[in-house]
Formats: sequence, C-alpha cells, structure tokens
Amino acid sequence: MEQPFLYNDFSTFLRSRFAGKVQKISLNAGFTCPNRDGTKGWGGCTYCNNQTFNPDYCRTDKSISLQLEEGKKFFAHKYPDMQYLAYFQAYTNTYGGIDGLKHKYEEALAVDGVVGLVIGTRPDCVSAELLDYLAELERQTFVLVEYGLESTDDVTLRRINRGHTWADSMRAVCETAERGILCGGHVILGLPGESRENIVAQAAVVSSIPLTTLKMHQLQLIRGTRMAQEYEEHPEDFHLFGVDEYMEVVIDYVEHLRPDIVLERFLSQSPKELLLAPDWGLKNYEFNHRLQKRMRELNAYQGKKYEM
Ligand code: SF4
Repeated sequence: MEQPFLYNDFSTFLRSRFAGKVQKISLNAGFTCPNRDGTKGWGGCTYCNNQTFNPDYCRTDKSISLQLEEGKKFFAHKYPDMQYLAYFQAYTNTYGGIDGLKHKYEEALAVDGVVGLVIGTRPDCVSAELLDYLAELERQTFVLVEYGLESTDDVTLRRINRGHTWADSMRAVCETAERGILCGGHVILGLPGESRENIVAQAAVVSSIPLTTLKMHQLQLIRGTRMAQEYEEHPEDFHLFGVDEYMEVVIDYVEHLRPDIVLERFLSQSPKELLLAPDWGLKNYEFNHRLQKRMRELNAYQGKKYEM
C-alpha cells in the first residue's frame, strides 16, 4: 500500500489544482541577469556558473512555442492527455520591459495544452505594473512566481553576492501574494557561514512570509564559479554535507516549516562534468524515497516543530 506523504508534496498540490496529469516544461526565453550586467550588481551570485552565462546560451535560437512543442512531444507519447506548465526557468524571467514580458508569457499560454505559467525570478526584479498584470492573468490561468530567496540572512546574501536583501525577498513575496498570485521560494541549504542551527532557524523565517511552495537544495560547488575558487583557496570556510547528514538537516528544517507550505524538491543535480562537490550520484526520486523512509523512522512530519 502506498504510504501517505509526511510533507505537502508538489504533485498532490498539482492534482488539487488540475484534473489530469500536469508536467512543467523548462524554457530558456532569452532573458539575462541584472546581477551580472551592473543593473543590480556585477559578476553574479558566487555559486552561479559563469560558463552557462554566455550570449550563445542566452540567445536561444528556438522560440518559446517551439521549445514548448518539443517538450510536449517528449511527454505526449506516454501521456497523450498531459497538460503543461510553461516554466520560465533560465536566468531572471521578469527582467525586461512590460510589453516584451507580456509577449513572452502570452506566447507560451497560446500553445495548445499549456495551462499555466511558472516564472522564476529575483525578488528585486518585479515591478508593481508587472504584478498587476500577473494578477489579471491569474484570474484566467495558473500563475506561480518563484523567487530565488537563497537565504534569510543578509550577511550570507552579501557573501554570495546576491545583490538583494532579505527585506527585498519579504517585500516581493508579500506584494505578489497580496494580489492573489501564488508565490514560490527557493533556498540553498549549506551556504558558507551558515551552521546547521542557522539553517534550521531559517525555516521559521521562511514560514513567516506568504509562500505557497518551496524548493530547497544542497549547496553544490560548480566548476568555474567564484565559490569554487573560494573553496579551493579556503576549504575550511565550507561544510559540504554528506547525503545522510543533509537528510537529517532537511528533516529538521521541514519539521520547523509552516505545515501548509508545498514542498517541491529537496535536491539539485548539476551535470557531472560541472560539479566539483559534493557528488552524491542520487536522483531526486531516490532522495525523496529515502527521506520518506527516514521521516517515518523518526516519526517526523512537516510542521511538527513549527511555532507561529
Ligand atoms: S543565480 Fe540567477 S541571479 Fe544569480 S547570477 Fe545566476 S542568473 Fe543571476
């Protein structure tokens, strides 16, 4: 018999919103990043891979609709009735003029079978005008804005050169949610300078803002990044989790989270050739399976230690 989830899982959330199966299709819509070109900062976040930030990669030749059609082909042979969410994933997907943004989002929504948008962005890169437009769109279709929060600690945010503060994150999430738009957050567990206690304490802070969904993943050191260089020069500044230790941190974190936040993922898997450390060789579903088992052993569940 299938065991119930011990946390709010994303697929159950999607089933509550849509009849039938829904799959996200990742897009590179040709956006760039304001934390690299001087608009918000220079050089980008220290963990972000510079090799993937080059004009060729950004200037994708394929239109948004073609990327979606190709994504659909991949899934449709297995599930002919599948519906899709256009996932604006690469770089900062609200970085641009309002007319250009509308054009991109509406191109995606015009593709047959696309039933909504997921828009990944930075908390300091959404205007009131854009949020008003997304609120209007939300009345007709599914819209989730996913913010890279990364940490709740301004010292860490400065150290990783995020170019925004926790106050920016709070403001963006509140202004999005108060318009009735679904809000997602993304955090990295294990950033330099953050102890296990600091990380788990962040769960309460993250719980205090009106997020609907949350993604978390382990810190990964990617070749060619400033953080990889820092690690090579000062490995003592880093604590890279082993998989079992990371799982214990995740469980502790999840227990301190607000019980209604939907948890979308716990692990990231960068391409092997780019990954410096840690290399766990684990797929998402394998981690999730082990996590559920360990949570059952510990009688742990989301929100168990949550305090308003
Ligand atoms: S992680 Fe995102 S915000 Fe940071 S440099 Fe990379 S693309 Fe820009």
